[in-house]
Amino acid sequence: MSWICDVCGQTIDQADEADLMWFRGVDGELRDGLMLVHHDNTDDESGGCGYNYDQIPDVCVNRHPADAYLGADGLMRLLANIVGKTMPTDETMVMIQRLHIPQYEEALPYMRDAVSRGIVIPSWPDGFFYQSQLEDIISWAKDDQD
Ligand SMILES: [Zn+2]
Repeated sequence: MSWICDVCGQTIDQADEADLMWFRGVDGELRDGLMLVHHDNTDDESGGCGYNYDQIPDVCVNRHPADAYLGADGLMRLLANIVGKTMPTDETMVMIQRLHIPQYEEALPYMRDAVSRGIVIPSWPDGFFYQSQLEDIISWAKDDQD
């Protein structure tokens, strides 16, 4: 699987090149903004995407390697974080799909347009699709770009 970095928009080709980032206020409240970003593979901690978020006042940044959220244990960790209210619920639902549902990440940039143009008729709440619908979205997006 590969992903699109939420900060720079470039491809992340491997899980060990990615981090999950999310935010909590000094009041302890979760903030919106769960992101999948490029990991800093350098020793000087100057690289990687999203490090500027460390400078937002009154916000604590949680940043962990994405591979801890893959596989069966990673999925369990994400689900436990939802129940434990240690990650933002709606955004974690999307992150679970990005990390665990085949074709979801590839279809993600085109979902809204595909629904509004009637390419797919959602059977579930906004953002939830069958595999066949994700395939339809991806093939429509590829045709649209040709
Ligand atoms: Zn990036």
